[in-house]
Amino acid sequence: MPKENVRPHILIIYTGGTIGMIEDIETKVLKPFDFSHLIDNVPKIKMLNYDIENIQFNPPIDSSNMNPVHWRQIAHAIESNYDSYDGFVILHGTDTMAYTASALSFMLENLNKPVIITGSQLPIGEVRTDGEENLITALQVAAHTDSKGEAMVREVAILFENHLLRGNRSSKVSADNFNAFLSNNYPDLANIGLDINFNETVLYRTTNNRPLMVHNNMDPNVLILTLFPGITKEILQHQLSTPGIKGVVMRTFGAGNSPSDQQFTSTIAEAVNRGVVIVNVTQCSTGSVNSNLYDTGDALAKAGVISGNDITCEAAITKLMYLFGMGMSPKQVKKYMQYSICGEMTINN
Ligand code: ASP
Repeated sequence: MPKENVRPHILIIYTGGTIGMIEDIETKVLKPFDFSHLIDNVPKIKMLNYDIENIQFNPPIDSSNMNPVHWRQIAHAIESNYDSYDGFVILHGTDTMAYTASALSFMLENLNKPVIITGSQLPIGEVRTDGEENLITALQVAAHTDSKGEAMVREVAILFENHLLRGNRSSKVSADNFNAFLSNNYPDLANIGLDINFNETVLYRTTNNRPLMVHNNMDPNVLILTLFPGITKEILQHQLSTPGIKGVVMRTFGAGNSPSDQQFTSTIAEAVNRGVVIVNVTQCSTGSVNSNLYDTGDALAKAGVISGNDITCEAAITKLMYLFGMGMSPKQVKKYMQYSICGEMTINN
């Protein structure tokens, strides 16, 4: 429940995306929404009785144009307003929302307040919009407190339609459904129906009370390499020799398998020996890498590829950017890629 007698104080950070469109009453044309008049344009927000303020990207952007510079801007907005608000709602395009959610989860160390990212498939100005409901539910989630009056959600989460998901466990799974996001390898943080029922046992909790620490450096010298039957040694070699490359997320088959011929594995081993960190992530939308299951997965492990277990591709690539951005050596990056830093992967030990 929101705190009794205290109006929750929420900051909305509007970055762009489909949600930020509204139909001009006279011309019927969709145009970017002026968030300085948010409450006037979404009158239902008044019913929440919250103190809401907003800041916005100028200009708002399609999330396909997001990059680490924008992640830094969002992180900075949260850091400089951290003590003044109970929670943060980020309005964001859906296309790269899961990457931003993953990146922020690493960048915002010791986060102890809700950072809820949402957007919509239809502009907020459309009659059948999902934007209004997503925005209002995101605000409610951000204002929710537990029985001790502390923030219920203390992590970066995605709210979309009737799912509240850990940000670094989420992926966009539909280009046109209102339910566009799923977290296949981790339970929903809440059941969103008539009520919002939190699954308190799966919410992330930091183990310390240290102040928020924002990490701004994200190293872009990384790539995602998707395997396919027939991939040639030349293509593989070319990608793994990209100038400056430090880390690779390799999207493998099934439980982490790849071709096991000598040419393939020696090309991989050669890159690993040069110091390139290669992380094995499955192309399947559900399940985990298990390098010991088949010879074809074992060969990759023997070549020095590390297992990403059940991490999403979005979380794996942003985690590499974050770890190299911290100035870590390949050895250190390999070590931390096998730890769960903020609930991004399941560690079975
Ligand atoms: N292209 C848009 C974006 O990601 C799509 C959306 O918002 O749903 O910004």
